[in-house]
Amino acid sequence: ELPQAPYDLIVKDLSFQYGKNQKEVLTDLNLTIKRGQKLAILGRSGSGKSTLANLLRGDLKPTKGQITLGGVDVSVLNEQMADYIGVIQQAPYLFNTTLINNVRLGNEDASPEDVWAVLERVGLKKMVASLPKGLETMVDEAGLRFSGGERHRLALARILLQDTPIVLLDEPTVGLDPVTEQALITTFMEQLQGKTLIWITHHLKGIEQVDKVIFIEDGQLEMEGSPEEL
Ligand code: ATP
Ligand code: MG
Repeated sequence: ELPQAPYDLIVKDLSFQYGKNQKEVLTDLNLTIKRGQKLAILGRSGSGKSTLANLLRGDLKPTKGQITLGGVDVSVLNEQMADYIGVIQQAPYLFNTTLINNVRLGNEDASPEDVWAVLERVGLKKMVASLPKGLETMVDEAGLRFSGGERHRLALARILLQDTPIVLLDEPTVGLDPVTEQALITTFMEQLQGKTLIWITHHLKGIEQVDKVIFIEDGQLEMEGSPEEL
């Protein structure tokens, strides 16, 4: 059975450890992520943020407890989770193929018009239009280098084309300079309006734009509230 809207993600009594003899990374975690909610997940390095992200996507199975999307256990959805949750990782990967194929990855039916439209939304249309081969440019072609910020924008374009109801960003701005980072956060927030956003971050920049912030510490939710409350 496929999950129905409203696609609320519900984490119930979740515990996780990577192996029997390893320490528990998450302990009895409870969390509801409502459809359309913008959630920031903070916590120091090693606190389990990426582990939680992988559990939410069904890539890892809980040791105890359950995660459901629209009432369906995410671990039974497997590859179908990709239709519901789009992910942008810290260092978005570009494939050795044309620009258009990089953007419509996982969405091969998209037309060039569709691709131009999302490139415009992420602020890359002018740049790509200025390339002699445009969308047909090979990404590894001599002379064409994408900066960190541009890679993230291409990754966002991919996600916008997939049009998943939920988008998960795992520290998407690490390593960018402050100006590029701010511009990217603004683009993410504008373009992901109406979608559920789960944004893992290690600092506070931009979090005034989310609805809810949680802190993970020692495997548990240490604090939970609106950005103003924290
Ligand atoms: P960061 O901010 O550095 O990305 P994080 O909050 O995302 O950290 P996780 O990557 O979720 O933290 O790691 C949580 C804990 O689980 C850490 O102690 C880490 O060493 C451990 N861990 C992560 N991945 C594995 C794995 N594949 N096998 C065993 N232990 C792991
Ligand atoms: Mg991490």
